[in-house]
Amino acid sequence: MQLRLFIAKRDVPQVSKNVKSDQLTVISYILVQTEKTKFDNRKETLYPSERWARARIFGEEVSKKLRNHLVAQLNEAGCEAVAPQLSPYWERKKSERYVFASNWSERHAAYASGLGTFGLCDGLITPKGKAIRAGSVIANIQIPFTARPYHDHHEYCLFFTTGKCKKCVERCPADAISESGHDKIKCSAYLNPGTHDYVKLHYHFDGYGCGLCQTGVPCESKIPTVNDIQ
Ligand code: SF4
Ligand code: SF4
Repeated sequence: MQLRLFIAKRDVPQVSKNVKSDQLTVISYILVQTEKTKFDNRKETLYPSERWARARIFGEEVSKKLRNHLVAQLNEAGCEAVAPQLSPYWERKKSERYVFASNWSERHAAYASGLGTFGLCDGLITPKGKAIRAGSVIANIQIPFTARPYHDHHEYCLFFTTGKCKKCVERCPADAISESGHDKIKCSAYLNPGTHDYVKLHYHFDGYGCGLCQTGVPCESKIPTVNDIQ
């Protein structure tokens, strides 16, 4: 496949060139929420804890810096690279099939990179659980890839493997998760303005978040097993 890679280089805002897909490597990582953040959010039933809301906003700022740092390090080593989510070409659009969809998804990159599979609530269940944030860069480099230790995109979710669990359904304050999956419209409406107003009023910064479906569930901090729902 022929791709056009948009490369971010220091002092050179945009460079583009044609490359073949097999010339590229996706480097994907996850950042795991701290035990304190998970502990606080587990106790919540309607709105995010302060730690969770701060991690949602300022943790993502850290992740942006990490992506930029990776790109800079790769550039210094003579390797072209880009952080797709931070590129001006990144966009989120309405989609007939998926309601909203973006042209690069950190969770999908992590799935493709062998880091985890999707849960009923659309979160990515990794060996460190679902209370995570993901990031990635694409580099014009060929290195051995990490094998995907799964065969199905829902393999780690107990609902898809046993028909049971649905703890994320119970945890969702917006009724946005059901056996049919994640209702992005309900979730998004709950996040903003709902949790935004709450965060501003109670935690005194511009932010939002929820993550109740990512905490207090069997897949919060690990790949769950049937023992977790007995
Ligand atoms: S809480 Fe249960 S049903 Fe929901 S994503 Fe996790 S394992 Fe799947
Ligand atoms: S983030 Fe909150 S509102 Fe959205 S699906 Fe999860 S629990 Fe529901």
